[in-house]
Amino acid sequence: MADAPRFYAHPFDDDKLKEECGIFGVIGVSDASNFVALGLHALQHRGQEAGGIVCHHPEFGFNSIRSFGYVRDNFTSADVMETLPGPLAIGHVRYSTAGSKAAVIRDVQPFFGEFSMGGAAIAHNGNITNALALRRELIERGSIFQSSSDSECIIHLMARSLQKGIPERMEDALRRVEGAFSVVAMTRTKLIGVRDPLGVRPLVLGKVGDGWVLSSETCALDIIGAEFVREIEPGEMVVISADKGVESRHPFRPQPSKFCIFEHVYFSRPDSIIGGQSVYETRRRIGVELAREAPVEADLVCPVPDSGTPAAIGFSQESGIPYAMGIIRNQYMGRTFIEPTEQIRNMGVRLKLNVNRALIKGKRVILVDDSVVRGTTSRKIKEMILDAGAAEVHFRIASPPTAWPCFYGVDTPQREKLLAATMSEEEMRQHLNVDSLRFVSLDGLYRAAGEPDGRKNSCPQYCDACFSGEYPVEPSDMIAKGFELKTAAE
Ligand code: SF4
Repeated sequence: MADAPRFYAHPFDDDKLKEECGIFGVIGVSDASNFVALGLHALQHRGQEAGGIVCHHPEFGFNSIRSFGYVRDNFTSADVMETLPGPLAIGHVRYSTAGSKAAVIRDVQPFFGEFSMGGAAIAHNGNITNALALRRELIERGSIFQSSSDSECIIHLMARSLQKGIPERMEDALRRVEGAFSVVAMTRTKLIGVRDPLGVRPLVLGKVGDGWVLSSETCALDIIGAEFVREIEPGEMVVISADKGVESRHPFRPQPSKFCIFEHVYFSRPDSIIGGQSVYETRRRIGVELAREAPVEADLVCPVPDSGTPAAIGFSQESGIPYAMGIIRNQYMGRTFIEPTEQIRNMGVRLKLNVNRALIKGKRVILVDDSVVRGTTSRKIKEMILDAGAAEVHFRIASPPTAWPCFYGVDTPQREKLLAATMSEEEMRQHLNVDSLRFVSLDGLYRAAGEPDGRKNSCPQYCDACFSGEYPVEPSDMIAKGFELKTAAE
């Protein structure tokens, strides 16, 4: 029963890229699992499909619960949380990218492995780009996989390492892994955090009382009253224990950082801090850049809620055009458990978003959204705005055209399904049938993200592959499956 496929549909957010994981870990507090549950709740935007917690208690050993659905539905009752005792725990929320699209409990993290020196659990955010090759090799050498997740490779690579300690086995394993990984792991006595050498996905360190915290984002430190200490550096491993505190290691060859610029645009929560900058403020500045790069005469600037809101505020401030809530989001629109048929998709946007007719009628409206992926949602929103009597509709998009898939831990449609992969900006405008359509430039996005001179084309300061087609790590599994990298002529 546990492995029966469940088709969790996301018909209302089907036209967004989806971050697939949030990770959190705590050591040195009396009830670590309760802190982890709260942290995962704050990271729920990074994955709503399933979640899990593994804990360790000196007397009762390891315990774990992995469940489908929201953290608030699975990890709030006292009866459940009492089964997860101890001063050390890690957790994970997921939306599947690698692994099966049909949700099965065996793909839900954290994963656990029993080694000769004791047990270890890991929770992974990112995507291993050579996972298929590693999996094939490991299976040929006798490994028995329990899940279809790329992250399980790390456990099997650790099992094959000849190192004596678990952190050292992790180092060995992660040196074989390509792609993006932020990992939170635990042994009986240690909490471990690692970021890949490029630092594609986030991971931060916090302090709560005498304990320590690792989290995908700073917003999850706030919820437990933890103090932000610093970001884990690209390529850094921290090994944290109650007696020795935080020990920092650098097991990988140093490389220029390639943090995911889309975290600034959409994935991270606006109340998080990345690289010392407020995510909200970066998004507001993207709106300022957009207003400078693509001005247009209009009566109202309206966000496509919620992710377009800070950029719409920035656009309004820079242009002097009044900001208004022209589209209202139904805050209680949860997920559904039905397959995403075309009919449901058509209803979906109207169930989630509604136009503020009294405001829109007769107005020239600038709609600010964070991104255009397939374009299906943008078309429906445009129709709703015109139905409500808008005189003109102008789209302003707070990211460059998304023309390439992400292979680093974000769920992206195949390249041919991305509107920008097959159409020019003018063709997209005609397809969406709007009066104008403009995207922020890559340089504008970099400026908003704290790079005053824009993108250094010889060595970009961020990963921006979904916009530029320049992949900082070659997606070797996908190339083996026939994916074609950008050619010099493109
Ligand atoms: S390809 Fe895009 S979404 Fe993926 S890591 Fe790079 S910037 Fe982020």
